[in-house]
Amino acid sequence: MSQFLRPALSALDPYVPGEQPQDKRYIKLNTNENPYPPAPGVMDAITREAVSQLKLYSDPTIAPLKQAIADCYAIKPENVFVTNGSDEALGFAFLAYADGSHPVTIPDISYGFYKVFAQLFQVPPKVIPLREDFSLPVEKFCSAGSMVVFANPNAPTAIALPLSEVERIVAFNPEHVVLVDEAYVDFGGESALSLIDRYPNLLVVRTFSKSRSLAGARIGYAMGNPALIDDLERVRNSFHPYNINRLSMLAGVEAMKDTAYFEDCCQRIMKTRQETAKALIALGFTLTESSTNFLFAAPPGISGKEYYEQLKERGVLVRYFGTERLSPYVRITIGTDEEMAVLLSKTREILKEANP
Ligand SMILES: *Cc1c(COP(=O)(O)O)cnc(C)c1O
Repeated sequence: MSQFLRPALSALDPYVPGEQPQDKRYIKLNTNENPYPPAPGVMDAITREAVSQLKLYSDPTIAPLKQAIADCYAIKPENVFVTNGSDEALGFAFLAYADGSHPVTIPDISYGFYKVFAQLFQVPPKVIPLREDFSLPVEKFCSAGSMVVFANPNAPTAIALPLSEVERIVAFNPEHVVLVDEAYVDFGGESALSLIDRYPNLLVVRTFSKSRSLAGARIGYAMGNPALIDDLERVRNSFHPYNINRLSMLAGVEAMKDTAYFEDCCQRIMKTRQETAKALIALGFTLTESSTNFLFAAPPGISGKEYYEQLKERGVLVRYFGTERLSPYVRITIGTDEEMAVLLSKTREILKEANP
């Protein structure tokens, strides 16, 4: 750190991404990427011609991708805001609706970036603890009295909140924006998208990183009332109007168009999830009910940390969060059937050594 950094930033705890080894030494089940490749149309769209066009700036209106998203969900392009990963959508929403005198209400256990943005933008967070069983205390969010941000399904707990409960939170906070981060909704959650016409304070944020197999393309989006989208466009155009690069735009359009491929990948992941959950429960694991592409799992007889380290030694990466309530658990991304078979066989080895 230099002597020049603002004091508020020297006190900041930046987001720590999951390990991203850039070689193939590991079975990588630690950052909730999709094990299947992007839709075939994506590969075909990235041509030499497309690459040669990189000499030109990208389209600052992002119109083709907005249209593809709008077509997919039967809404209007005016309801769609597109960003460089959904992290950027979250950041722009914080900038638009929160500051030192406009706090944000968030759950204590959720996506780590909410707290980081609160620190970065000097927004006082109102942190509400999840219940003992990791469910969201809905009543407390209904009387938030501030902007509300939560993930549904939640991470890393994998637990989904029913749509009726999400609607209660939105309906009870008419004076504030309620942002529902639906990064994992395609794996079995209920989306709040159907509510955007009725609630002018609802923003639904999604990503191409998980269910559309495009984590490396960095595309996220928010959907909501056109007035909210206007607000976010003001921020984007005051920060980075070229936030979507040409190749990602092409990739995103193709990924959005191929509904059959998308649904097939999601179905396969959900089936693998059911089978893996059953096998882990048979081994004595404690699991939450997952509506995501990962399992939140506590091994029997050893700590989450020990299990994470033992798996890593055997070439399988999962995510471990060292914080108090999460320390018995690891988060395991659902990979292919073959990858999960390796996870299970390494797990049996580890448990046998730990409990001989
Ligand atoms: C992965 C994730 C994101 C961020 O995804 P991007 O890759 O930035 O689109 C946002 N929210 C949650 C809950 C996530 O798990």
